[in-house]
Amino acid sequence: MYPASQEQETYQSHSQETYEWSTEVRKALTQIFKLQEFRSNQLDAINTTLSGNDVFVLMPTGGGKSLCYQLPAVIAKGVTKGVTIVVSPLLSLMKDQVSHLLQKGIAAVCFNGSMEPQTRSWAFSELAKNPPPTKLVYVTPELLSKSGQFQNTVRSLHNRKFLARFVIDEAHCVSQWGHDFRPDYKLLGNLKQTYANIPFMALTATANDKVKEDVLHNLNMRGCKVIKQSFNRANLKYEIVPKNPRNMAQSIHEFVTNGYRNASGIIYCTARKQCEDLALKLRKEFNLRAKHYHAALDPVDRDRVQQEWQDGSVQIIVATIAFGMGIDKADVRFVIHCSLPSSLEGYYQETGRAGRDGSVAMCRLYYSYRDKMTIEYFIDNGDGDWQQKERQRHNLRMMIQFCENLTDCRRQQVLGYFGEKFDATMCNKTCDNCMANATLSFEYRDVTETTKTILALVRELQVNKVTLIQVVDIFRGTATKFLQSRGISDLVPGIGAGKALSKTDCERIFKHLILKEVLAERCETNAQGFVMAYLQVSTNRKALCMENLAHLTC
Ligand code: ADP
Ligand code: MG
Ligand code: ZN
Repeated sequence: MYPASQEQETYQSHSQETYEWSTEVRKALTQIFKLQEFRSNQLDAINTTLSGNDVFVLMPTGGGKSLCYQLPAVIAKGVTKGVTIVVSPLLSLMKDQVSHLLQKGIAAVCFNGSMEPQTRSWAFSELAKNPPPTKLVYVTPELLSKSGQFQNTVRSLHNRKFLARFVIDEAHCVSQWGHDFRPDYKLLGNLKQTYANIPFMALTATANDKVKEDVLHNLNMRGCKVIKQSFNRANLKYEIVPKNPRNMAQSIHEFVTNGYRNASGIIYCTARKQCEDLALKLRKEFNLRAKHYHAALDPVDRDRVQQEWQDGSVQIIVATIAFGMGIDKADVRFVIHCSLPSSLEGYYQETGRAGRDGSVAMCRLYYSYRDKMTIEYFIDNGDGDWQQKERQRHNLRMMIQFCENLTDCRRQQVLGYFGEKFDATMCNKTCDNCMANATLSFEYRDVTETTKTILALVRELQVNKVTLIQVVDIFRGTATKFLQSRGISDLVPGIGAGKALSKTDCERIFKHLILKEVLAERCETNAQGFVMAYLQVSTNRKALCMENLAHLTC
């Protein structure tokens, strides 16, 4: 392990306005960007880079990362002047930003593989001027690492002292721990070595500590100033509701008519076919302006659907997770997950696309424990190595634990996963659990003895291939017929031991034990060709280690 990077506290904050460039910065904010005030940490990032220091900016989606490098790019004072080079992974995003900059009268250009030859040579000739009129150059990591002409231009800018800074946007792409690793981003580590005296700025909305360390390491920026803020999205509301696949469209229709009549929204589904079916149903049966979007659409259709949604003629986009990165729509009022996301990281990113404008938005997840099996099936049959699969299984367990948890604040859970301590009272009852906690009370029960009984029972039964639901019924003593049909003796210890517990409580204890890896579900295709999950005692150490169970409360 490499040492943890130095956190902001060890540095003085650069949020004051006493620099030689402060007047110019303020003027740029109001006159060029037409904004009234800086948001949290923006000024700090701007002053740090204008002072010539490297900086890593961690800010949630919608926090306003672009301004952190777009504004300094137009400032003539400070140790850095000249051209800002911005590396970004997505072409559509870059083109979008460039057109916004041009509208503001800022000279910007986007270098990419599909450029017209005339545009390309014009762009290069602009950069050859002394000084170059261009303020921002956007470039894909591929082009930066492969185009000799581009590399020569950067070198020439540097030699002529017109290279202001390097910006690595969506910096989590350099980390294999991130959700969106790009091999070409790896090569960016060389840049800092080649241009040691040029200030770097890396930005991401990924809060995960492992990713953070990995990014700093891979970009050779360790020890630089890190600006991090809470990743809480105060304007997003979170709720998890039980899923009934049969009336999903109906339920969504009710949701939309109760407060989101003309509001823009995203609905995420797992499979392409689900997207198509749901969008069709919402249109035909419920008269909603909904359309589907997934990777198998041809690019022209995909762009059109996205455009229609962007301009509001389509209200709801029903999509796979192929939809999202690079979408810059500020007024998304709701994000609905129709099935379980495969990780909390994904859940946070996807819900994060709501409410970028800062106004209230709703994040609803339809949860069914059964969805776990679908994802497990994908993991088992995916092409990752065993380490990746272990990581995916872990992520899935965390996700289920989150959905099954009906007591703790949703924000506290998600942010806690990213290593951030969040005071649940700050939620102000804007998640379902905090709302329910205001009226319900929970008692903590020690279930160690119950657990021992359950383990003994499952050990006896597992050779008979029983499912979670069946064992719960057996444990509660309501499965006499089933036991007879399978020829299982009703003298097995533990049968009926859970009589006093409600079915819901029993299920929660069992699921808890699965999440703690004391029990496990093994997927198998049965004679009828259905994938079944059979319950067994885990083969790992945890099941044997009773001390682990002593502080198990439900
Ligand atoms: P990020 O890249 O962090 O997700 P963006 O840079 O795309 O966020 O900004 C998100 C939105 O916030 C944009 O619509 C942007 O215009 C707006 N924004 C950024 N900074 C400010 C500010 N200081 N005041 C008001 N709006 C801002
Ligand atoms: Mg951004
Ligand atoms: Zn809460």
